[in-house]
Amino acid sequence: MFEREDHFIGGAWLPAAGSEVLEVVSPSTEDIVGRVPVATTGEVDAAVAAARRAFDEGDWPRLSLDERAAYLRRFVDALETRREQAITLQTDEMGATRKFAVENFDGIRPSLERLISDAGTIKFREVRDGVVGDVVVVLEPVGVVAGVTPWNSPIAVELSKIFPSLLMGCPIVVKPAPECPLSAYLIGEAALDAGLPEGLISIVNGGVEVGAHLVEHEGVDFVTFTGSPGGGRAIAAACAARLRGVTLELGGKSAAVVLPGTDMTPYVPALIGGSLRNSGQICVSTNRVVVHEDDRDRVVGQLVERLSAMKVGDPHEPDTDFGPVAAERQRDIVERFIASGLAGGAKVVAGGGRPAGHDKGWYVEPTVFVDVDNKMEIAQEEIFGPVLSVITYADVDEAVAIANDSKYGLGGAVFGNDTEEALAVAERIVTGTVQVNGGPAAGGGGPFAGRKQSGLGAERAVEGLESFLRPKSMALPAGYRQAAG
Ligand code: NAD
Repeated sequence: MFEREDHFIGGAWLPAAGSEVLEVVSPSTEDIVGRVPVATTGEVDAAVAAARRAFDEGDWPRLSLDERAAYLRRFVDALETRREQAITLQTDEMGATRKFAVENFDGIRPSLERLISDAGTIKFREVRDGVVGDVVVVLEPVGVVAGVTPWNSPIAVELSKIFPSLLMGCPIVVKPAPECPLSAYLIGEAALDAGLPEGLISIVNGGVEVGAHLVEHEGVDFVTFTGSPGGGRAIAAACAARLRGVTLELGGKSAAVVLPGTDMTPYVPALIGGSLRNSGQICVSTNRVVVHEDDRDRVVGQLVERLSAMKVGDPHEPDTDFGPVAAERQRDIVERFIASGLAGGAKVVAGGGRPAGHDKGWYVEPTVFVDVDNKMEIAQEEIFGPVLSVITYADVDEAVAIANDSKYGLGGAVFGNDTEEALAVAERIVTGTVQVNGGPAAGGGGPFAGRKQSGLGAERAVEGLESFLRPKSMALPAGYRQAAG
């Protein structure tokens, strides 16, 4: 049982002022595994005020990139001393399999290093030819950032806000999802161990009200949100009313296109990983598998065979492939979608129900539907569960049209015998990222920027870092030439 009665505000542990608590129920055992306080509006105000002081009066925005990077590397060192606890807590609070939690945790240092090297390519100051004389263009930190995050990968998503924000010189107040507030405590502990200056990171727990108070706060300059399209819309509206910048990483309904005649033998693990990893609770999950009508039975056969060899069970066990979904209401949603697919005429060829032997826990079997029409609800709506729909096409133009017939535009995948041919099809898919022949999800080191209802703005890479910067032009008098620097 993980119990805390304090908040990490402005770089210190402060006893909670309010009496409201979040009780965290394990998705695999249904036992209470944690209890932490909900931040009051006064505590959110204190967090924003600390960030404001760090930005307006502190050294952080003026430190060099190397100095900020050194602090963040020390922070990761400190977090890594808590590796086992971080992995177990995420498995406890969201039912993530140990495999998934390990993979996410071990990706933290490489993702920081990647950002640091991307940041090194940004021209923070340059002298350009202006209309009359030189103009000095500088990129300045945007200010105090609010980060609001979902439950499906807690530490990794929280750090996907914290790293770029701090690296670009901006203090941040993070509000984790109420379902998964436990592991964020380790971020506070690591920040203290690493000696991060006061005010740079605060963590305020709670639900929509706490999030709304934070994003609407007059002391906040920029909001970075990951979550549902509904949450994103509300936050974008709050930011619009205050003329405040915002990036939104929202939902998806991505397609994996298998080109005609593709030998999927080397790619079946990538196809299953891309569509059903974390029990399908991944925004870029490619859970519409778009396959040529002549190849359907072969590809479905390979999928089902591999799935039947994968383990559904206790997410704490190191060889478990599929744990429960994260909440009882999430299982209700998934089961409602499965019923909708069946009612619409789709056929289940794997899973479709609750696995045997699990009286406790919110388990749903990994499920494969065939005979799915792309107009069906299961092909149009984000299920956020372990449900994959196989949709057939007659020619590649139709495959592309099916992939693009979605209100979302987040991820995607193309598999083909020829990687150049697969890349050419990937270019026709209207989404922010596409995996080609098993390439990594979510941009693989490039920017991550949803189209349509999947988001606004970019995260990761130079484009994501630049969200945390604002340009300023200092125009010099006619004929004046400034030494470059
Ligand atoms: P959610 O939108 O319900 O909540 C996300 C966070 O926003 C939570 O912390 C919540 O308390 C807060 N929130 C919600 N409405 C708010 C409001 N009006 N004002 C302030 N804060 C508010 O999403 P969820 O159910 O936690 O997460 C699942 C969703 O997240 C899925 O749609 C999934 O696709 C999406 N997601 C997207 C990405 C991505 O990078 N694109 C990654 C992970 C998850």
